Amino acid sequence: MHSNFRVQVTFWGVRGSVPTPVPANLGYGGNTSCIEVRAQDGVQLIIDAGTGLRALGLSLTGESAARPDTHLFLTHFHWDHIQGLPFFICLYDPGSRVTIYSDREPEELRRFLEGQMTAPYFPVGLTSVPATWNFVRIGADPIRIGGVSARSFPLNHPQGGCGFRFEYEGIAVVHASDLEHGDDEMERILIGIARDADLLIYDAHFTPEEYPSRRGWGHSTWLDAVRIARAARVKRLVLFHHDPSRDDRQIDEMVALAREQFAATEAAREGSSITL
Ligand SMILES: [Zn+2]
Ligand SMILES: [Zn+2]
Repeated sequence: MHSNFRVQVTFWGVRGSVPTPVPANLGYGGNTSCIEVRAQDGVQLIIDAGTGLRALGLSLTGESAARPDTHLFLTHFHWDHIQGLPFFICLYDPGSRVTIYSDREPEELRRFLEGQMTAPYFPVGLTSVPATWNFVRIGADPIRIGGVSARSFPLNHPQGGCGFRFEYEGIAVVHASDLEHGDDEMERILIGIARDADLLIYDAHFTPEEYPSRRGWGHSTWLDAVRIARAARVKRLVLFHHDPSRDDRQIDEMVALAREQFAATEAAREGSSITL
């Protein structure tokens, strides 16, 4: 297999908090957090299991029998990051091997996900799906999946959460959502980890004008995204986790403002890919 990229990042869900498939939002998309990261060597990683995961799963069913194993990285367990999991078609394929990574102990991770797929919330229990499961804790020490190295780092978010740094043949992608800016120690860690990254995906849920009345909700702004991107000297910035009430026109405006301070800024758009 030959691909003309080393890393390809595809957005399947870009919305924060709750799916919003309303016409005014569909330019950027209404599904919640789900990002696919593919390396040239065929390794496929998924970040978060929001409602975008359903369409991602369906896209894989067209692939050959040599379909790669699924490596799913969970930032945390708020609904908008796990709600697509019961509808992930790979769970119902006996030939499918799914490994789920988080910064929690494997037993805790298993318990959280079993608690989601249980009566009376869903008719199929996690333990009875045909796919093979594996739960792995990922911390600051990099783990290797094929040619990809992956590690996590803590983020300031209610009930905790983590970001990820993925590296493949010198290409670095950093995912930092959900987080609230302003925690000095965690920002120092984030800026260190994002240093010189090719791509930073950052929580831009709020505008700077909205933020003061939403302090403590666990999200950041495009202005802080730009500040972190500049401090870490990343090459490209993607604004992510769009507020459910932010329509396409408002996201365009946000991007225009951000570009005045950091030209290589774009907003995550469902269905779009970035090749690196
Ligand atoms: Zn979220
Ligand atoms: Zn959250």
